[in-house]
Amino acid sequence: MKLDNKICIVTGAASGIGREIAARYAREGGRVAIADLNLAAAQATADDLRREGLQAMAVAMDVTDEAAVERGVADVVAAWGGVDVLVSNAGVQIVHPLEEFPYAEWKKMLAIHLDGAFLTTKACLPHMYRAGGGSVIYMGSVHSKLASVLKAPYVTAKHGLIGLAKVIAKEGAAHGVRANVICPGFVRTPLVDKQIPEQAEKLGISEDDVIKKVMLKDTVDGEFTTTADVAEVALLFATFPSNALTGQSLVVSHGWYMQ
Ligand code: NAD
Repeated sequence: MKLDNKICIVTGAASGIGREIAARYAREGGRVAIADLNLAAAQATADDLRREGLQAMAVAMDVTDEAAVERGVADVVAAWGGVDVLVSNAGVQIVHPLEEFPYAEWKKMLAIHLDGAFLTTKACLPHMYRAGGGSVIYMGSVHSKLASVLKAPYVTAKHGLIGLAKVIAKEGAAHGVRANVICPGFVRTPLVDKQIPEQAEKLGISEDDVIKKVMLKDTVDGEFTTTADVAEVALLFATFPSNALTGQSLVVSHGWYMQ
């Protein structure tokens, strides 16, 4: 088991990519905290994992609320004694052309993606430093590397996560803490399913064309990336044995973006 009793906090783990990462970690022996805004869904995810005989707890957490983040991390530490792996994954998507982007929605996007990464990292680092090591993983995107129309705050925030990871890599190195970013292509989750009709309407094309001509057009094989593909990379970053792999961003996108 690659994560034997390691204590892992995964934000946004009640759904989609985060849920799959949590399940993968738990099946590798990890103790997994399902931290999510949606406590009922987090509870249901934790219950599903426990029914498999795995170790999981649900934690109510709005990643934009400093007190809620500190409380959630403290609950995990009280239950299990520390934090070894943080996956800052919670995220949403809001699309508008820039000249119509409501300022409140811009701020909400940056708060969830960037403040959320900062606050969860700040709360977890002291526990990792105390233990002499840990792994911080940010959920970036191909949009950490390139831009698409309608997604100004998303692209801005996802690029920003790479800068934050590089700083954590430098500050954390002396304590054995690594920081890396996963950059997935499009994955069929509720976040993407919601975007398909929205983009079809805003771009004036069919939903099928949004998938084929927008989302998957530059992949090598016309395929969606899967939650399992992303979880595989999350396991690599969580378990890599040295500081050799830190400050990196790894794209998993069926060749949509090649670095
Ligand atoms: P999802 O909608 O399936 O899951 C997102 C989860 O985040 C939900 O459970 C939601 O309740 C939670 N959440 C939202 N706001 C929160 C907050 N303030 N505090 C705590 N939890 C909150 O989405 P997903 O597709 O699994 O996306 C997960 C991450 O992966 C996001 O950061 C997203 O940007 C990124 N990503 C997704 C794709 C994709 O194609 N689906 C591609 C690249 C990157």
